[in-house]
Amino acid sequence: MPIRQLSETMINQIAAGEVIERPASVVKELVENALDAGASRVEIVTAGGGLSLIRVTDDGSGIPERELALAIARHCTSKLSDDIHDIRSLGFRGEALPSIGSVARLSIRSRTAAGDSAAEISIEGGRVSAVKPAAANRGTTVEVRDLFFATPARLKFMKGERAESSTTSDVVKRIAIAFPAVRFTLAGSDRSTLELPATGDTPEGRLARVAQVMGADFPANAIAIDALRDGVHLAGHVSIPSYTRANALQQYAYVNGRPVRDKLIAGAIRGAFADVLPRDRHAVTVLFLSLDPATVDVNVHPAKADVRFRDPGLVRGLIVGAIREALAGAGIRAAPTSAAGMMAAFRPGAAPYSHPGPANGHRSYEAAFRASGFSGFDPSRSPQRPLDMGEARPARGGFADNDQAAFDTGPMASADARAGIAEPAEALLGMVLGAARAQVHENYIVAQTRDSLIIVDQHAAHERLVYEALKNALHSRAVPSQMLLLPEIVDLPEEDAERLAMHSETLARFGLGLERFGPGAVAIRETPSMLGETNVQQLVRDLADEIADNDTVETLKERLDRIAATMACHGSVRSGRLLKAEEMNALLRQMEATPGSGTCNHGRPTYIELKLADIERLFGRR
Ligand code: ADP
Ligand code: MG
Repeated sequence: MPIRQLSETMINQIAAGEVIERPASVVKELVENALDAGASRVEIVTAGGGLSLIRVTDDGSGIPERELALAIARHCTSKLSDDIHDIRSLGFRGEALPSIGSVARLSIRSRTAAGDSAAEISIEGGRVSAVKPAAANRGTTVEVRDLFFATPARLKFMKGERAESSTTSDVVKRIAIAFPAVRFTLAGSDRSTLELPATGDTPEGRLARVAQVMGADFPANAIAIDALRDGVHLAGHVSIPSYTRANALQQYAYVNGRPVRDKLIAGAIRGAFADVLPRDRHAVTVLFLSLDPATVDVNVHPAKADVRFRDPGLVRGLIVGAIREALAGAGIRAAPTSAAGMMAAFRPGAAPYSHPGPANGHRSYEAAFRASGFSGFDPSRSPQRPLDMGEARPARGGFADNDQAAFDTGPMASADARAGIAEPAEALLGMVLGAARAQVHENYIVAQTRDSLIIVDQHAAHERLVYEALKNALHSRAVPSQMLLLPEIVDLPEEDAERLAMHSETLARFGLGLERFGPGAVAIRETPSMLGETNVQQLVRDLADEIADNDTVETLKERLDRIAATMACHGSVRSGRLLKAEEMNALLRQMEATPGSGTCNHGRPTYIELKLADIERLFGRR
């Protein structure tokens, strides 16, 4: 076949292959257009999972009649001036409408503030009709019928109506989180109506919108994030470690207001939580990154969900640092949902305890959030960065003399430890975990504060404390290494070998002795003793990948931390040890002072708090 120029419709259909994957992509593009037009209300209607109908109506600026034909022409946009590096709108490629018009029946009815009447244009499988007068209020209605009728092959890849409807809901929720000042409704015969009234573009409004989308119990289980580094601002909320999901779907990320799915951000979130969550659990997060548009490339893929940062190390460091800081700042904090869920389970005739429940539905988000011990980012506080390898800390003793010693006071405490302690010291009642009153079932410390009852799982708590102490020791000085009898040579692509060599000093601090060995290899002479017999080849390759991706050596730190966790698990107070009052109080005080000690190494709570008011309610006294 000779070379020939493709027809306009063919070109658009090829573009549609990338931009318009399924009904949800149409909804995404149309809603983005409405938001770019400054809409304060966006109404979405679908039928047949979006395959038979998608209609998006907005009250935005509208399209002047003379520009209607351009709106559906390829590479025509009102959003890009002359600088591809300065993109401030959601759209900029000028290909959504022509792509949709090439694979479906599309009509656009619009009216501007200046226009005295509306006009309409339509396009079916690439065939454009004349512009006609129409009746409409200010704003734009875009209607898409029979999606993919012109490309039956694509139609075959659609999942059922139900699945397509729910993907569309996800898309709308994802965008809605970034636009709390806009009212969204999503309705249709194929779904239950989603209504998101405007909550306002204030910190409270943004959190209220998040609660509309994620569930009313999220704010009570979340910590605020607010951090700035080298002109990059990070804001949002992350869940406390006891509030998790089985997958990462509830992790929302935005770059300059644009919803993105980004590997780097996802990896940074995983890294930040690695210490407090089991491997198969995921935090719930909403994170907004704001940075100079010139330092991030959004023109990576037609769907605009991928981004590239000019300084990925900075972004990763900011996210990991800010989340860890916030988790440490929230300090020891009960899991309000689990406590509330437990109370519900106690109640006569209540449904069995399920986590998480909408425990705080009766309170305002604000009240629930404050009551939960909300703690914002405080840059003036000295940062606690247990994993910051660039920072030398005073040595707190090696692995042998970890804080275990504080609890090693002999196998048997006197019997009165179990009987309960008569007079709690007034000062202790004011502490977060209060004064220890008794130990029951050989593992639970019962303590009391002025307005609550605390139950501590002593094994879980101690395990966490030992872990934190081990980690501190680990990162406060050079990690002991063992010499290999024969250096191990790892063959790698030249860039990888170069990158590893560049980080060799840091790696040495972690006990990995490495040097360049010819152009395409490195020689490993020492490995961290803690790792024992380890697969050096695999470790080095993982490190090379990670440095290439993120410019960090997080992998090695994470592996060492995991080993510390295993050691802690074996070395902590077993349940069954009887503790004296002083020992119990010492444990409580140490928990209060240790970041992250509200959960054990596996992410379970180490203590629960029952408010006196809740207990009274249980007994029908309120
Ligand atoms: P892009 O959004 O990348 O510019 P589109 O094909 O999505 O490309 O839209 C083309 C143009 O049509 C936009 O640049 C805008 O000027 C106009 N437009 C589309 N939808 C709307 C809308 N809902 N309100 C106002 N103008 C719109
Ligand atoms: Mg667009």
